[in-house]
Amino acid sequence: MRYAVLADVHANLEALEAVLGEVARCRVDRIIGLGDFVGYHANPNECLDLLRKSGMEAVAGNHDLVAVGRATADLFSRRARQAIDWTTGRVEPEHRQYLSALPEVAIVDGDFVICHGSLRSPHQYVTSAAQAIEVFHDLRDRYGSRRLCFFGQTHRPIVYRWDGMEAPVVEALRGNEVNLEASRWYAINPGSVGQSRDGDPRASFLVYDSAARQIRFHRVEYDYEACRRKVLAAGLVADRDRRSRIVRRVLQVLKSARLG
Ligand code: ZN
Repeated sequence: MRYAVLADVHANLEALEAVLGEVARCRVDRIIGLGDFVGYHANPNECLDLLRKSGMEAVAGNHDLVAVGRATADLFSRRARQAIDWTTGRVEPEHRQYLSALPEVAIVDGDFVICHGSLRSPHQYVTSAAQAIEVFHDLRDRYGSRRLCFFGQTHRPIVYRWDGMEAPVVEALRGNEVNLEASRWYAINPGSVGQSRDGDPRASFLVYDSAARQIRFHRVEYDYEACRRKVLAAGLVADRDRRSRIVRRVLQVLKSARLG
């Protein structure tokens, strides 16, 4: 089976359409969604329409849970909270029902495990080897023979690998292609479709070929300006505006320091 693994779409229709175009070229059998279909951008219903029509198998992300009242926005930034408040009032009843019923962890085809943040919580961030170890221990202790876990939430593509030693070694691998070894455990993040945070603004996803035991990462250009216009029209804050405001502020401070 060939799976396209998508995370953190965040209601970015332009990014999702570009990714689904590339997914079609990759000839996959199924789409796997790692949650956070909504939040930040302005097309939650359109994104859920497309993904659900594709027959996607999915877990819920923290933004999805907050949008349907399954969790609170206490840990959200001001911007994330503003976007999820906007989203909550707009998710159509049918999609609301869908998000309400999504599991937080799922085993796909008996072969691999999917979650949003970690196997313990969709709110957790796995950003270090030390945190990945917890995922590996959970995988080993609770999921039997499955040695592969896909997670999202950090919006950064990465591969953690573990050889199962008691003093475990976790490596962060980079590169487009990873061959999975049967004797090792893997925790893999495909990066984000709708809001990349690794410095590469393109949409990110991966294809997992279960027969070949191979992972391939993909990056896709999309029309960010179109997405941004809709975000601003909705009264929300656009990704790159936020960054450029911070950069402008830093430059101002540097300039005044030099003048001073
Ligand atoms: Zn997210």
